[in-house]
This record gives sequence, structure tokens and C-alpha cells, in this order.
Amino acid sequence: MTDFQAILNSIYTKIIKVKDKGTVASYIPELAHVDINNFGMHLQTIHGDTFSVGASSTPFSIQSMSKVLALSKAIELVGETVWQRVDVEPSGHPFNQLALLEVESGIPRNPFINSGAIVIADILVSNLKNPKEDFLNYVRALAGDATINYNTDVAYSEKITGFKNYAAANLLKSFNNLKNPVDDVLDFYFHQCALALSCSQITNAFFFLANRGRCAKDHQYLTLPQVKRINALMLTCGFYDEAGEFAFEVGLPGKSGVGGGIVALLPNNYVITTWAPGLNKKGNSKLGMLALEQFTTDTNKSVF
Ligand code: GLU
Repeated sequence: MTDFQAILNSIYTKIIKVKDKGTVASYIPELAHVDINNFGMHLQTIHGDTFSVGASSTPFSIQSMSKVLALSKAIELVGETVWQRVDVEPSGHPFNQLALLEVESGIPRNPFINSGAIVIADILVSNLKNPKEDFLNYVRALAGDATINYNTDVAYSEKITGFKNYAAANLLKSFNNLKNPVDDVLDFYFHQCALALSCSQITNAFFFLANRGRCAKDHQYLTLPQVKRINALMLTCGFYDEAGEFAFEVGLPGKSGVGGGIVALLPNNYVITTWAPGLNKKGNSKLGMLALEQFTTDTNKSVF
């Protein structure tokens, strides 16, 4: 049997010695205060066994990782109609790039670049009674943890510096792919990105995607075909313009965020989350990618 704890321990020992830890995101000023030396990992197998190392229970800003949970909720609410407003192709461009959106008449390439996530946020604002509260309760229920919350300082920090997201939302509006007022949609979007979760809470929240749509408490959130599609999108679009590199090095569906988190999973097998706030040039956690590459190499457990 694989000794997961020994593998996590040996990855930890290696990772904390790495000198070049990347750079903490500073374009959202509130994120710049985070200590770059944080490093944590949490793993949960499909059978419910858990293994952790380092700062695995410290909440951090999940940022773009929230886009997967927002998409899941949107699919639960409106099903396949999501795909009339967002495409499913990798963009090959940074997460906040706008040029493609103009050329492609306001249909974002996928739900994990910012413009696509803003369309998903619009769907949630249209279909949830109290969008921010309901979405928070959804994430709490998925993770089985009522202590999860938004970090409102981070949400505010994004709001006052989110010029590109305002540009994206206005462009979407001009193409009639945003139904609600720009300010309402972005207020929701900035909050979803400002959710604060630890590695173990994220692992719990994403468990249903490794478990055919069922959370650890056995509630069925999505059907297997729906889950397969979300996992396919994580594999092809989960890492900005570095999705190919992540598939090549790690070989798992996953999603990163500029808070330095990465969640990755092997369907019917396990979910793993890493947190190391320093990012590489493409905006993905530098040490998180390294740690996950080591993990799938040591365990021989990837989709390939
Ligand atoms: N809230 C961030 C933004 O919109 C998300 C970026 C990310 O994590 O990729 O810029």
C-alpha cells in the first residue's frame, strides 16, 4: 500500500528548501501581505483517509479555484444552457486577457478565465435568491464546514483595483452576454474569489468531483456526466496558459488560484490541495506545481 504520509513528508522536506519560491501576487494589494514561506498540503482518498503536512489548516484566498465551484452551482441550476454563453476551449492566453473576447463576439473561451467566470457569476446572480449568502452556504455544505467565510478585505481590495474585470464585464454587457448590472455581477465575483479556505477545507469542498458527484456526506450534487465535464475543463483550462505544462508535469485535472493554492484530483481515487503563495510567471503556484509533480511521480497515480 502507498504510504501517503511518508510521501507528503518527503515532499515537504524538499520543497521548503527551495530558494526560488516565485512571487506573491501583488496586483490585488491585500494578497501582497501573505508570507511567501507558507507551505501546506492536504490529501483525502476516496475512502476518506486524510493526510496533511505543513500549513494545511490555514485559510487563504482561494481566488480562481472558486470558479470551479461557481460553475458546479451554475450547472446544478441551469444545466447545459451554460454552454450557450461560455465555450469549452483552452484560451492559451492569460486569465485576464480581453482581446479574444472581442474577436469572439463576447463568448468567453471557457468558464475559468475571468470573462468566463464573470458570465457564470451572472448566471448565479440571476438564479440565486441571495447570491452571496446562498453561494457561501453551498461551499459550506460541500465542505461540510460552517466556519468558511468570505474575506471582505480581499473582496474590497479587488473591487478598487479590478479595472480589467470591469473592462471584461462591460465588454460582455456590450455583446449582451451579461444580464445583470455590471456592479452587481462583479460584487458577487469579487466575493467568490475572496473566499478563504484552508487546504483541508478545499479538499473537502472538491471531494464530490472525485467521487462521481457525491460529497463526503453522501449528498449527490451533480450527475456523473456533469462531473466528467467539469474535470475535463480543469484538465484543459485549469491553469491559465500553463494547462499543457500542468498536464505534462502532473497529469491531473486541477485548478489554481493567484492566492497560491492548487487543487487537483484523480477521479475515483483522491483529492489533493497545496498552498504556496509564491507564483511563477504564468500566475500558478511555483512550489505547488513542483510538489504535485513530485506527488504523482512518487505515487504513480495520475490520469495517464
Ligand atoms: N480574482 C482574481 C482576478 O479576477 C482571480 C485571478 C486568479 O486567481 O486567477 O483577477
